[in-house]
Amino acid sequence: MKEKTRFAPSPTGFIHIGNVRTALFSLLYSKNKDGIFFLRIDDTDIVRNNNIYLNNIFFILKWLNITYDNEIIFQSKRFKKYEYILNDLLKKKYVYKCFCSKDRLQEIKNFQIKNGLPLKYDGKCKNEIYSNVKYNNFIIRVDVENFFYKNNTNILSFYDEIKGTILINNNNIDDFIIAKNNFLPTYNFASVIDDIELEITSIIRGDDHIINTHKQVILFKLLEKKLPKFIHLPMILDEDKKPLSKRNNDSDINIYYKNGFLNTAIINYLFTLGFSFENKEIFSLNDMINIFDTKYLSSSPSIFNKDKLIWFNKYYIKSSNSKIIKNNLIRLIKKKYLNFKIGPDLITLIEISKNRVQNIIDIINNYEFLFKDKNNVININENDFLTLNLIYSDIKNSNFEWNFNNIKLFLEKFVIKYNYNFSKIAVLLRKIITFSDKPNSLYEILILCGKVLLLKRIRNIIYQSKRGL
Ligand code: GLU
Repeated sequence: MKEKTRFAPSPTGFIHIGNVRTALFSLLYSKNKDGIFFLRIDDTDIVRNNNIYLNNIFFILKWLNITYDNEIIFQSKRFKKYEYILNDLLKKKYVYKCFCSKDRLQEIKNFQIKNGLPLKYDGKCKNEIYSNVKYNNFIIRVDVENFFYKNNTNILSFYDEIKGTILINNNNIDDFIIAKNNFLPTYNFASVIDDIELEITSIIRGDDHIINTHKQVILFKLLEKKLPKFIHLPMILDEDKKPLSKRNNDSDINIYYKNGFLNTAIINYLFTLGFSFENKEIFSLNDMINIFDTKYLSSSPSIFNKDKLIWFNKYYIKSSNSKIIKNNLIRLIKKKYLNFKIGPDLITLIEISKNRVQNIIDIINNYEFLFKDKNNVININENDFLTLNLIYSDIKNSNFEWNFNNIKLFLEKFVIKYNYNFSKIAVLLRKIITFSDKPNSLYEILILCGKVLLLKRIRNIIYQSKRGL
């Protein structure tokens, strides 16, 4: 039988780093076994669902090349199915309707907290017959006591590929809720029903779901279905060893998209969060698929280290083809309102910057001045004005090829010819090109600026200054 896994995000918030790692590991696990990888959207929470979040899931998976098989499964399209099975379970008396008010449930809870008792529903509705007319709003709970009684045990056990065997005593399991507001399924219920229907063989998800797993195991057993393999990935923590929460900016995958991280760097870094193989760090997607095995998964939490992610990003920028970088760069510079018809071509800029930037947006950020065609006002004194006139006519009248050696030679001759101080000329030219006192390498910016743009810049300054003189 083919291995089947799924990634099941809920569109109730922006997808974060932890979700993406779960998606990646599920994909790798499934592809390693030549299996099928489903995308299931857990959108039963009608109130909190939002299309912005939903589209973001698709967008991020696409950006990161996390591809899924077959059609996407939307839980919101399956309410009828859930209701049908809930009714069946009610008929079998495996589950029961609970009509207790929120106030009553709170009272029980307060009492249990006060007396140091386990927090559990007291089973009132299991034992009483209620009229549906009188109480038309109910939730549905599983009769856990009956489940254990029928199975002739008081211990529930299941096996997790990372955590080993997990045992839970029936005293610690509440009559958990599987539907609210009459037949609106809870996550645990809808998830089990769909995992059964899709014939999911392995469930890979964050270990924050381990607290749900025993409930799901009970449901699988009530429905007389074989349990899938459970693989609960230890959390990703921040450097203070706290869960990398949605509130922490570092966990927002969108930030990395916006800030010019390469998808390959993100994927490779996430792969190393919780998976270690022969002390190697750099893996292509194919390598990852080939070597993926749960035995290499770590059983302790991973620490998210942004510097390490930047290290991966630098590595992938350095080693990627400049055309790939250019495609990535283009999406980022659209909103910058720069004029890319002037200034150097992007490939030249990428080749120069590739070895030293942390993210691709820096390639442009460091050189925005080359793509600005506004006449920025620069104040120069009378001496500078004369110098610029000389530079302008000497460059204009020369026709050497615009490269490092020739520019250097030209400037050396120029300062001798007019008895100028070289560093003063350098400061002036930098100012003309960058509109600031940025300490960029003079020759580099002269080459990137090009003869035509440089002359245009000098001409503009001369005109401005004439007006001012
Ligand atoms: N919708 C759940 C989540 O986003 C899915 C958990 C699971 O994979 O079962 O956490």
